[in-house]
Amino acid sequence: MKLIIMGAPGAGKGTQSAKISEKWNIPAVSTGDMLRAAVKEGTPMGVTAKSYMDAGQLVPDEVVIGIIKDYLSSDQCSNGFILDGFPRSIPQAEALDAMGVKMDAVLSIEVPDEKIVERMSGRRICSGCGASYHVLYNPPKATDVCDACGASLYIRDDDAAETVLKRLNTYHGTTEPLKDFYAAKGLLICVEGREKVEDTTAAVMQALSQFEA
Ligand code: AMP
Repeated sequence: MKLIIMGAPGAGKGTQSAKISEKWNIPAVSTGDMLRAAVKEGTPMGVTAKSYMDAGQLVPDEVVIGIIKDYLSSDQCSNGFILDGFPRSIPQAEALDAMGVKMDAVLSIEVPDEKIVERMSGRRICSGCGASYHVLYNPPKATDVCDACGASLYIRDDDAAETVLKRLNTYHGTTEPLKDFYAAKGLLICVEGREKVEDTTAAVMQALSQFEA
């Protein structure tokens, strides 16, 4: 199974890709997570990426295309993979095609903008393992502590309200046209992102059941 997950920032891509990864036993790669790791380590790529991320803009295509090229050539991808947050522009999708990667499906999680803004303000991320929580919809058992690894939770810099609006603009302007791009290839599957994580997961699993052996 080679799957792309797309959706507005905060639509639940990371949460659902973790569920699919577990169920299908295939790795999930998030370009956002990789870029945040590079920012944290202060690598040259991280320094370049940070200014774009903080401004709610996309990191230049050549940077993320390079990350994905390295990742897809690794052994762990031989049985399939989930791309979470890549591609995010038509040139990135064309680069994926040029790498000879044939995707099985592109899953778009659809959530209205007003809901996105509400969600992002409650989002908390684990500083240890990157797990994602929401203070109302998916709270950790202990406040600001990760259930999975016990590390502290934090609010992402780019989840600030003003940046969220910019990221939504970027999504609609640059990423959403990918829906037509993949619909034309017969790969697009749209699923409505629900309030409860488990409801969205059920809809996602139902949509993907057609690919089960
Ligand atoms: P995410 O965690 O997927 O919401 O990504 C966080 C930020 O990382 C985005 O707002 C972008 O600045 C950057 N980013 C992640 N994936 C990509 C991508 N495929 N292309 C360009 N920028 C990206």
